[in-house]
Amino acid sequence: MASYRIAVIRGDGIGPEVVDATIEVLHTLQDFVKGLSLSFDFVEAGDQCIKSRGIALPEETVEAIMKAHATLKGPVGESAADVIVKLRIMLDLYANIRPFKSYPGVPSIRDGVDFIIVRENTEDLYKRYEFMIDEGNTAVALRVITRKCCERIAKKAFEIALKRSRKLVTIVHKSNVTSLTCGLFAKVCKEVAKNYPEVSYEEMYVDACAYNIVIRPERFSVIVTTNMFGDILSDEAAAVTGSLGIAPGANIGDRYAIFEPIHGAAPDIAGRGIANPCATMLSAKMMLEWLGELKAAEILERAITMVLADGKRSTPDLGGKASTKDFTEAVKEAIMCIG
Ligand code: ATP
Repeated sequence: MASYRIAVIRGDGIGPEVVDATIEVLHTLQDFVKGLSLSFDFVEAGDQCIKSRGIALPEETVEAIMKAHATLKGPVGESAADVIVKLRIMLDLYANIRPFKSYPGVPSIRDGVDFIIVRENTEDLYKRYEFMIDEGNTAVALRVITRKCCERIAKKAFEIALKRSRKLVTIVHKSNVTSLTCGLFAKVCKEVAKNYPEVSYEEMYVDACAYNIVIRPERFSVIVTTNMFGDILSDEAAAVTGSLGIAPGANIGDRYAIFEPIHGAAPDIAGRGIANPCATMLSAKMMLEWLGELKAAEILERAITMVLADGKRSTPDLGGKASTKDFTEAVKEAIMCIG
């Protein structure tokens, strides 16, 4: 019997709403997948945690994450940089994997989208090496790009591409401007590519990539890029597939992994019961895959896909009128139906 301890950070804004919905669905899934046993260890981090405990990321939260088999995390508000950006570096979660897919029943700008952004997660401007010079009149940020980090993220991207039917990696950078930092990233990615003769690759400047994600997203299979570019392209890709509310993500290292939706705390809709929990549920599906629980992951994705395709219980971000609770109940019913 496979038994997993999952650390859970509910987060801020819509975080608790979408995380609680996901935990409910995971409980239902457990009832239907023989041998799957999940226990949840709720820990705190984020704006709410600062209010209640004076700190964004308590030590015991980090310890719980390190003790767990995996972590499910909701979005964090203003203190995101002191929580997830810190955790990514602290636990060396160097690969941010963000799949984007067109789902039947989801109104979107383009159909036929099915690609993954593999974003370097530990360096670049996210090192936050910033300082003022010139008596406070000039701000400087250092962009750090290392061979080691380029190599491992490129390897991850090519490994992912190897398992896909379309074996293509698009290396995204801007080496015509930042010739040393992006130049190193591009050079190392191309070196790594030599070890994967079955996978083709191409290079694309980040501005051209942003354009193509809107105009011809179906041309992409795996995009590998640096931290800041990956963050920005991800929100764009989510918009093209219909909503930030359906875009999941994983932060993966060699030892630890944290799964979270790519969206933020969405304070504009927090507390109204209308947040789309789909992105967090799909992040949980990625977590199950990472744990090796492929059957449970497949059932969960099928259930979500069925509810989205039906469209009757879609949340307002997808043009529907359903609440978070309605959508969650529909996914639970779909799991029971499949199970
Ligand atoms: P961050 O910088 O923290 O990632 P952000 O600036 O990308 O956050 P979000 O909080 O993700 O902003 O919200 C952007 C928009 O998308 C808001 O209008 C928000 O309501 C909407 N949105 C985000 N997530 C969801 C969701 N799960 N369901 C419905 N709408 C959402």
